[in-house]
Amino acid sequence: MNADVATGAGRGAGMSAETSVVIVGGGFAGVACARRLAGTDGIRVVLLDRGGFQQFQPLLYQVATAELTSQDIRFDLTRIFRHRPGVEVRQADVTGVDPQTMTVTLDGGETLTADYLVVAAGAQPNFFHTPGAREHSFPLYSVEDARQVRGRILTVFADVAREPRLVDEGALNFVIVGGGPTGVETAGALSELIHDVLPGVYSQAPCGHAQIILVDRGHALLSAFSDQAGAYAAKQLHRRGVQVRLGTSVKQVDADSVTLGDGEVIKTRLVVWGGGEQAADVATTGGLPTGRGGRIDVQPDLTVPGHPRVYALGDIANIPSGDEPALPQLGSVAQQSGRWAADNIIAQVGGKPPHPFHYRDKGIMAMIGTKAAIAEIGPHRHELHGRFAFVAWLGVHLELLGEVDAELKAYIAWAQEFYLRPHHRSAALLDPSRIDTPRIDWSTTDS
Ligand SMILES: Cc1cc2nc3c(=O)[nH]c(=O)nc-3n(C[C@H](O)[C@H](O)[C@H](O)COP(=O)(O)OP(=O)(O)OC[C@H]3O[C@@H](n4cnc5c(N)ncnc54)[C@H](O)[C@@H]3O)c2cc1C
Repeated sequence: MNADVATGAGRGAGMSAETSVVIVGGGFAGVACARRLAGTDGIRVVLLDRGGFQQFQPLLYQVATAELTSQDIRFDLTRIFRHRPGVEVRQADVTGVDPQTMTVTLDGGETLTADYLVVAAGAQPNFFHTPGAREHSFPLYSVEDARQVRGRILTVFADVAREPRLVDEGALNFVIVGGGPTGVETAGALSELIHDVLPGVYSQAPCGHAQIILVDRGHALLSAFSDQAGAYAAKQLHRRGVQVRLGTSVKQVDADSVTLGDGEVIKTRLVVWGGGEQAADVATTGGLPTGRGGRIDVQPDLTVPGHPRVYALGDIANIPSGDEPALPQLGSVAQQSGRWAADNIIAQVGGKPPHPFHYRDKGIMAMIGTKAAIAEIGPHRHELHGRFAFVAWLGVHLELLGEVDAELKAYIAWAQEFYLRPHHRSAALLDPSRIDTPRIDWSTTDS
C-alpha cells in the first residue's frame, strides 16, 4: 500500500494546502517536534513509533535497581497527543526512510509519503564486536532492558538465598561495562540496593560476599566531565564498595563469566552493558549519509545534506556545534533539536529559510549514589556536588518531563522521598511477579 499522509505530496490546483510531516521515533526529539508542530494550522503530523510510548531513559538505572518500575518511566504517545488533533500517533516499525522519494516504509510493507520527513529514531547499544556481548550481557537502553536487569538481580539473590554455595560460582559478582554516566549510576545504585536493601529481604543470602566490578578501557570515569568529577565519582564508588578497573577492556562475555583484556576471567551471572551506543538501524537505509557512531550527518540547520525537507534529530544525528564535531547524545539536545526542527519546518512552509540550530547548554550531571550527585552546570561547567547537584539533576529532569503532559508534582514527591529515604523499597518493587506496579502516580493533566 502506498499512501500520501496528507494532500501535500503531489499537491495540485484546487487541492487542500495541508502540509504533511512524518516523524520516525517518539522519543525526546520526535515528541518535542510533534508538539511544536501540533498547534500550527495547515500542518498534519504522523508520529510513528515502534513501541507506542516515550521512555525516560535517564531513570532506566532506577528501574534496573528496583527503585522504580518500568511503568513509571514510559509515557503512552496516544495519551500525550490526545488533545492535539493535528498529530496522528501510529505504533509502527519503520524499516526504511528514502529521502529521494520522501517516503518511509513500515514493516508490513506500507509506504507513507510526506512533504517533510523527520528521522528521530534514537540509538541502540554498541557492543563493538565484543564476542558474546550481544548474546550474554544485559544492555541498559530500554525499559524492557531495565526490567531484565532487575529480574536477573532478584533471581540471583533468591537462588543464592536457597543455595549459598552458588557464591563460589560467582553468582554474586556483578560486572558493569562502561565508566560513563550509565555505568557509574548503575554501579552506585546497585551497591546501595545490594548492601542496604537486599540483606533485609534475602536474609539467608551472604550479601556481604557480593562484588561489583566496573570496567572501562579509558583511564578516567565520566570522561565527558572534568578530571575532578571523575575522581569524585571514583571516590564515591570506592566508598560504596565498587571495584573500579580502568584501562581494562572486556575481551569476551560468556553465559557465566567475563574475560578481561589482561586475561583475567571473572565468574558472573550479570554483565550490565553500558559500553557505548550507535544509531538506530533506520540510519543505514535510503542512502542517508552516516558518520561517527553510524549516525546521520546533518547540516547546522538539522537537515540532511542535499535534502532540504529531510531532518535528522537527537541521538540518531551528528549535529555539528562550533568547534565540536557533534553535540553529545543527551535528552536536552534531542528535545531542543526537536523544537528547532519544528520551527524550521514552519518557517519553510511559510516560504522562509531554516536557521542553524543553537543549543542552550544546561550542563551535564550524574547520580553516583543517592547523596552523591555531581553536576557541571552551564556551558562553563560550574561544578556542584551533593545536595545542590541533586537539585540541578531534578530541575533538568523536570524540564525533560515537561513534554510528556505528566503531573510533575508526582515526580517531585517521588524525588523527595528517594532523597530522604533512599533505602526504602515497597514489597512490590522487590517481587519479580509484581514487577510493574507503578510507584509514581503520573495522573496526567487534562489541560
Ligand atoms: C541509560 C541512559 C541514561 C541516560 N541518562 C540521561 C540523562 O541523565 N540526561 C540526559 O540528558 N540524557 C540521558 N540519556 C540520553 C537520552 O536519553 C537520549 O539522548 C535521548 O533519549 C535521545 O532522544 P531521541 O528522541 O533522539 O531518541 P529516543 O529517546 O531513544 O527515542 C527514539 C524512539 O524511536 C523509536 N524507534 C527506533 N527505531 C524505530 C523504528 N525503526 N521504527 C519506529 N520507531 C523506532 C524508539 O522506540 C524510541 O521510542 C541517557 C540515555 C541512556 C541510555
